[in-house]
Amino acid sequence: MVIDGKQIARDLKSSVAERVKESSERIGRAPQLVVILVGEDPASEVYVRNKAKACEEVGILNRTVRLDASTPEEELLSLLRSLNADPKVDGILVQLPLPQHIDEAKVIATIDREKDVDGFHPLNVAGLWQKTPHMAPCTPKGIMKLLAAAGVDPKGKRAVVIGRSRIVGLPVAKMLLDANATVTLCHTRTVDLASVTREAEILVVAAGSARMVTGDMVSEGVTVIDVGMNRDPLTNKLCGDVDFDTVAPKASAITPVPGGVGPMTIACLMENTLECFLLHADR
Ligand code: NAD
Repeated sequence: MVIDGKQIARDLKSSVAERVKESSERIGRAPQLVVILVGEDPASEVYVRNKAKACEEVGILNRTVRLDASTPEEELLSLLRSLNADPKVDGILVQLPLPQHIDEAKVIATIDREKDVDGFHPLNVAGLWQKTPHMAPCTPKGIMKLLAAAGVDPKGKRAVVIGRSRIVGLPVAKMLLDANATVTLCHTRTVDLASVTREAEILVVAAGSARMVTGDMVSEGVTVIDVGMNRDPLTNKLCGDVDFDTVAPKASAITPVPGGVGPMTIACLMENTLECFLLHADR
């Protein structure tokens, strides 16, 4: 079964749109997301446009603030402080990566944790690891929703995650653990990766390496979530970390690239923005 991330994301956005409509009428205004883009990274431009489009679809007001690549760090921090204080701004997202002269950690920590729709603020990260209320990061949250939509309950299963980044690998491993899977986390120093991945009943790949997981590395019946977004070195087309053609015949369920995790990340961003809005407005 190919897990249709596009359709599952559409369904999530429809339900968010209904909740946005109902809560906007009750509260007297619509939620607002402010996205800040520093510089002109072409990939970031695409992500920012996609986020604005999704906001339109679900009825969330969107403002994109574009800053010059040479913007001083203090100017960005000061903008964040004013957005934190603005009662009509519910969500704040700073598109990463930032130019080198800006300290990313400082920027993330300056965003009000209750407006941190990305779930990257240190207190939201701590909340995930300590099981206290927090905003969940969008991509790992989307992965868990894809598994649920495919009818895969992680409870009691052997889950293997490749990649230990702060934004995907680590948080998704924690979420799988909280869903009662037995989790193995792999990285570049893992010896004999294939012997680990062959044990997986659920395999999440977030390595950023085109088609690194091949059919001989998985067992029959595995559920595969491919987070990777790479350019195929030969065709320049978008491709995942999983070699779909050799893995799919052995998998019981698999996400495609494109059309898997990507659309879910944006749908979860919409859900997080709604949750931030409700958090402020219902207080
Ligand atoms: P990252 O570079 O921060 O981390 C990659 C991780 O993979 C590292 O922990 C590294 O140790 C591990 N790794 C790399 N090559 C490996 C190998 N050969 N064997 C074992 N481990 C290996 O990347 P990231 O930010 O976590 O992103 C990973 C991929 O997911 C990228 O392709 C990125 O574009 C994509 N991504 C997609 C979405 C989405 O919404 N679809 C969101 C975030 C990231």
